[in-house]
Amino acid sequence: MSANETTYKIQAMRELLAKKLTRSVVGSLVGCVHCGMCNDACHYVKTHPDDPKMTPSFKADQLRKLFKYNYDWTGKVFPWWVGAKEPLTDADLDVLKDIAFGTCTNCRRCTLNCPMGVDTAVLNRIMRGLLTSVGVMPEGVRVVSKDQWEIGNQMGVLKEDYLETLDWMSDELVNEVNDPNARIPVDEPDCDVIYAINPREAKYDPRTIAAAAKIFWAAGESWTMPSEGWDQTNFGLFSGDDQLGGAAARRVYEKMKELKAKRLVISECGHGYRSTRCEGPNWAGIDQDFQMESSIFTMLRYLKEGRIKVDQAKLRERVTYHDSCNLARSCGITEEPRELLRAVATDFVEMTPNRAENFCCTGGGGAMSMSEYTPRRLESAKVKADQIAATGAKIVVTSCHNCVDGLSDLIKHYKLGCEVKQLVDLVADALVIEECAVMKKAKVVEMPKPALPLDGRRILVVDDEADIRTFLRTVLEDAGAEVYEAGDGNQALAQARALKPNLITLDLSMEGKDGIETFAELRSENGLASIPVCVVTGHPEFREVIYSRAVPPPEGYMDKPIKEEQLVENVRRILGLQDHKLHA
Ligand code: SF4
Ligand code: SF4
Repeated sequence: MSANETTYKIQAMRELLAKKLTRSVVGSLVGCVHCGMCNDACHYVKTHPDDPKMTPSFKADQLRKLFKYNYDWTGKVFPWWVGAKEPLTDADLDVLKDIAFGTCTNCRRCTLNCPMGVDTAVLNRIMRGLLTSVGVMPEGVRVVSKDQWEIGNQMGVLKEDYLETLDWMSDELVNEVNDPNARIPVDEPDCDVIYAINPREAKYDPRTIAAAAKIFWAAGESWTMPSEGWDQTNFGLFSGDDQLGGAAARRVYEKMKELKAKRLVISECGHGYRSTRCEGPNWAGIDQDFQMESSIFTMLRYLKEGRIKVDQAKLRERVTYHDSCNLARSCGITEEPRELLRAVATDFVEMTPNRAENFCCTGGGGAMSMSEYTPRRLESAKVKADQIAATGAKIVVTSCHNCVDGLSDLIKHYKLGCEVKQLVDLVADALVIEECAVMKKAKVVEMPKPALPLDGRRILVVDDEADIRTFLRTVLEDAGAEVYEAGDGNQALAQARALKPNLITLDLSMEGKDGIETFAELRSENGLASIPVCVVTGHPEFREVIYSRAVPPPEGYMDKPIKEEQLVENVRRILGLQDHKLHA
């Protein structure tokens, strides 16, 4: 490589970095005080305690050096003191590549332990993005990115192979449920649900497609799978390439719009969910006007609505649950998978730590595609292996295809003698077919359900008092709404980003981030600003404060205690439903 080409690459990285410098990124770049409190959170540090190059701060410092050299005054005045430096050679770029791709899975566990709020994974993803933009990346990342760009899915599954697999699984379904009319519909318009999958399912594990089809069939769902735009995963999240992220997400959204489906159900995949549900609309630059949810929520809803019935006693072996970093830490999905798991297994034990504190499976961040780092990855997997072994479980359940691969690899390497399954496998196995919706429908003529005043509306209830949340939830659910809860401001913002509710009810006086601050942040964040807010407060003295903010006022305001009918009426007024007739 000539010196000119290297100079060009570094110039391109510099220019791309300038575009990434949002307030929160700069906060993470300048906020690190190198206290080392995050070190112990990282599985690479735990398994390489004497190597300072494994610490989160060292990894993030690589981007800091570049930032300080080009954009921070301290780097201009005292470059030697603050470590401001640019890569100069291709060898320097290779070193950066090995750090960004080979020593961090972007799991964000260190972020939780940083008192300064530094998000090391965000910085590492930016470094990956700078490197991939100039063609410096592991070969596996190059191949997978190319497949997703050119063929439309990460594993290069051709359309005819994908359709053939669906056909094959359709036949399996007919045999399994003994119903000649059972099938996997493809490209049917106007369905309630489109089911998008991880290409790993079509290529290596089609049983999960058959399992999901069995559940949809049992629930009597109106559903289809798309012939294109079916890959809900997104390598842009791992490679740091927002353009790839946007292109991959757009394919899925466009197919949804073409088929006019109401809800996109995303099969169990942590990074796929985070990419498609949370990051994709920003990368793709479009607002989606349909609902999106993880299949975890879909299965749980079927169970709660009595559309499927399961027999818990069918699974008596000990099971444990591995939280995917993307689902638990980045998207806050921790309780729903457990609720589902408890319904289908008699002996469920937690691994410790768990939920948002769980350790990465070590296959995250695209690590499974980078074979040159496998030995180091498997060394770092010792932490996870010890966690699993301590549970004595025979089955490790996870809601992520990436984690299935990462966990299976470490289970084999450390000879743990257990297997990995997903919730979809367990729920499908536990189905009591005779009691499911499709069978009940065959037996009785269903009466149409009466229309409810908030049918189909998704509402986020934010209040730090659990009993108030329960009251609001009950009233709104009785009125037909789909209700989600948050107990403080930070949870509320994360939930609002993930769920894009139709309306938020907001308490003002809360521990931690209060409602006033939360309201201001909601109003100032793209994608959240237009969500209507109904303040529900026991502190009328704050009314002035909330209405005097330099942002559009809340759409509704209610003093506690509130009456049930007033709440429903207020919500209907805010949502513009008052003049609408309830559909019969
Ligand atoms: S990232 Fe946070 S916890 Fe880690 S060294 Fe820096 S300031 Fe300390
Ligand atoms: S994001 Fe995860 S892998 Fe990366 S430095 Fe932090 S804890 Fe370690």
